[in-house]
Amino acid sequence: MKKIKIIETAFRDAHQSLLATRMRTRDMLPIAEKMDKVGFFSLEAWGGATFDTCIRYLNEDPWERLVELKDLVKKTPLQMLLRGQNLVGYKHYPDDVVRNFVEKSYENGIDVFRIFDALNDIRNMELSIKVAKEQGAHVQGTISYTTSPVHALKKYVEFAKELESLECDSVVIKDMAGLISPQDTYEIVTTLKEETDLLINLHCHCTSGMTPMSYYAACQAGIDLLDTAISPLSGGASQPPTESMVAALEGSPYSTELDLVLLSEIKKYFEDIRKKYSGLIDPISEKIDTDVLLYQIPGGMLSNFVSQLKEQNALDRYKEVLNEVPKVRAELGYPPLVTPTSQIVGIQAVMNVLGGERYKNVSKEVKDYIKGFYGLPPAPVNSAVAKKIIGNIEIIDCRPADLLEPELEKFRSKGEKMGIIKKDEDVLTYALYPAIAPKFLKGEAVEEPIEKAPEVENTNTGALPTEYNVEVDGELFDVKVIPTGYMEIESDSTKAPTGSVPGGVTSSMQGMILKLKVAQDDKVKEGDIVAVLEAMKMENDIHASISGIIQDIFIEEGDTVSAGEILMIIK
Ligand code: MN
Repeated sequence: MKKIKIIETAFRDAHQSLLATRMRTRDMLPIAEKMDKVGFFSLEAWGGATFDTCIRYLNEDPWERLVELKDLVKKTPLQMLLRGQNLVGYKHYPDDVVRNFVEKSYENGIDVFRIFDALNDIRNMELSIKVAKEQGAHVQGTISYTTSPVHALKKYVEFAKELESLECDSVVIKDMAGLISPQDTYEIVTTLKEETDLLINLHCHCTSGMTPMSYYAACQAGIDLLDTAISPLSGGASQPPTESMVAALEGSPYSTELDLVLLSEIKKYFEDIRKKYSGLIDPISEKIDTDVLLYQIPGGMLSNFVSQLKEQNALDRYKEVLNEVPKVRAELGYPPLVTPTSQIVGIQAVMNVLGGERYKNVSKEVKDYIKGFYGLPPAPVNSAVAKKIIGNIEIIDCRPADLLEPELEKFRSKGEKMGIIKKDEDVLTYALYPAIAPKFLKGEAVEEPIEKAPEVENTNTGALPTEYNVEVDGELFDVKVIPTGYMEIESDSTKAPTGSVPGGVTSSMQGMILKLKVAQDDKVKEGDIVAVLEAMKMENDIHASISGIIQDIFIEEGDTVSAGEILMIIK
């Protein structure tokens, strides 16, 4: 009898995938002790998008959540998802921030670190792996799984061996869009078991519908660990149901040795949780969507496209956008679509279709990606595309974080001056999210209300549901459930249709003003960058619509603006 250990994802990936990461700590604590009794390998409970969501929407301190859970979960290891050098953010942080973040995460209660990089670039993972090992944690190296002409089994095995050489304790195949077939699962798990001495873990989402079959194939191939979610938070964009997996293996040569009666008590609790948060559930994320196999677009991203295109009155371009995604992905060297590359590719596809010309509008992130600041793409970026976007600028070939200056002490002294540092961890919160952390740390953030479920759901028009952007792997458009629609894209920032005021500079998308680059009475030339807008975790420049003098500014840094809103007037 082979024992298969289960990682329960209810506190992290499951609610990130289905409930837009909005589960509150106060809804986790009452069930935590019971979950501790089950005998899971670990409880995935932290990291990914939960950190960002806590401070941005829930007015919760993510560090306190961890400590409170740790107080109740005494036996079962707590696990987090760490995006390598990106930690729990969307960009590379300097080494001093990475080191301190990993140390503090361990100190506050994380026992298992699942560490990944969107490009499977080991240079972006080395430091966090090393520091987590130094703390004595279980370190799980991650293979970000995708399929493409340049992704072969051999490459994944080599990568797993590299992870093993860094002393990882286990390796996880992270299949964020549920792409892996039973046969491919069997081959990769068998080979990894043969070629390494690592514990092997499979992490999938149910989007394509194949996942439960792949999980069984994984058992047959000798898998050690499987990720599941308690049934009310399972399926669709989330993991396969825990109880079903336990039941399915009974009487087989494999066993989880978990108690279905205890699980059913836990299930009851989460049924109520699901009800409480049902207003956040996008019907798209609950469904099986086999399109993911054609486009490799996780379900949450599909719902995003629908809502963006609707806002632009361009829903008829939906199919074009879907077809554009694999093209952009190929041109950018076949990155696996996971945070942050999923946003980078997805938004570029929308911009390419709506912009009328491919790569006419390009986010800062796409430019940085092509310059090599995210690491080495699996295949070279198409040279014509690279040339169009960055011209003859040289592409870096060093480890991207080698170019970053230490930052921790800078944030510490800045934060202390502002009076927002009450404990060491606050420095990290500030360093990770300098734009939104001050408001939270000052105590000025307000918890958003829990979205109520629509009373009548009209699934024919989908009018209500598509306003919510829910993420599949969570790692991606995970945190965008905003009734006002957070991330609509318009075709061209300088030609916003609502910019009918002479000299008016409008926002092309919904988002947050990250930087204001001009002041009243400043002289600007047409095309100058006057502000930087953060939308969908991307930075987009806003340009002066005409040359002249800034007459009026209606925004401040940190303001949320909607598409077409007039930000300033140039005379
Ligand atoms: Mn996931």
